[in-house]
Amino acid sequence: MARKDADILCLTREGLYCPLGDFHVDPVRPVPRALITHGHADHARAGHGRVLATLETLRIMAVRYGEDFCGARQEARLGEAIRLGEVTVRFAPAGHVLGSAQIAIEAGSRRIVVSGDYKRAPDPTCRPFEVVPCDVFITEATFGLPVFRHPDARDEVRRLLDSVRLFPERTHIVGAYSLGKAQRVMALLREAGYDAPIHLHGALDKLTALYKREGVPLGETPKVAAADRPKLGGAIVLCPPSAIQDLWSRKFPDPVTAFASGWMRVRARARQKGVELPLVISDHSDWDDLCRTIRETGAGEVWVTHGQEDALVHWCATQGIAARPLHMLGYGDEGEAEPAVESAA
Ligand SMILES: [Zn+2]
Ligand SMILES: [Zn+2]
Repeated sequence: MARKDADILCLTREGLYCPLGDFHVDPVRPVPRALITHGHADHARAGHGRVLATLETLRIMAVRYGEDFCGARQEARLGEAIRLGEVTVRFAPAGHVLGSAQIAIEAGSRRIVVSGDYKRAPDPTCRPFEVVPCDVFITEATFGLPVFRHPDARDEVRRLLDSVRLFPERTHIVGAYSLGKAQRVMALLREAGYDAPIHLHGALDKLTALYKREGVPLGETPKVAAADRPKLGGAIVLCPPSAIQDLWSRKFPDPVTAFASGWMRVRARARQKGVELPLVISDHSDWDDLCRTIRETGAGEVWVTHGQEDALVHWCATQGIAARPLHMLGYGDEGEAEPAVESAA
């Protein structure tokens, strides 16, 4: 029997809600039952009754919020069909960060896919994005403007290593979000043959240890002790973006400040943050990959959750795809939503 899309998924104050299955996806407020796409703080919040997510995401939430982050948890295995009320849900990899998943919701012959955040570029720290054919595709649009075309992240890391060679006495301090980006930068450095220790700000330590436990090889990553800072000339140090401009970073010898973010494409942002070496490395899809992905899903309808919605909605119209912006609040670039737990660390 054909179901109305609004019975499968609709927008509530808490976020996307499935009336037929009685659950929310990535709710921004505590709810009785939440399905979580990935561990970033704007998607995964503490205090839900029951949480269904991949094992990696459940573990990330436990590291960030403590073991009692929800009432009861259930692991969603990738590809497994899980019956919830009158719908079937299935998790598929999203290529965004460790454990990240898209969630396909099926009722009768109708399938809606909530992609969460996703990228198509290769990332040695997580499973690649998988195209799930669907009727309605729900997408973010963080970089949903044609000016956003991300370069190859490997070339950006090569620029970092060139700078390290050029200034062997200076410390290179790289700002990177604590979940996903930091570990991806480390993995890319290792792929490029960099085998010296990569020093970590304390706020990156726990999630990096979790990545290692999950089998992502990152090599030696000692935590920076306050007293060691003056001795780290020539080293690469990773820290959360907020620490680049902190007093913390000034104790290193003549530091070169770098920041790994898709936003570094915007030079004004780099200048404003006092970033000397902007590295354009994003865990989100750029414009071309957003458009390509929408086409590949074969969706006849697209809902855009947040970001630069207008251009993407317009592009869909030119392709004969019905699209609407959801103007969802509470989601955004991870940097604006780093949990307090970690910044305090
Ligand atoms: Zn995210
Ligand atoms: Zn997000």
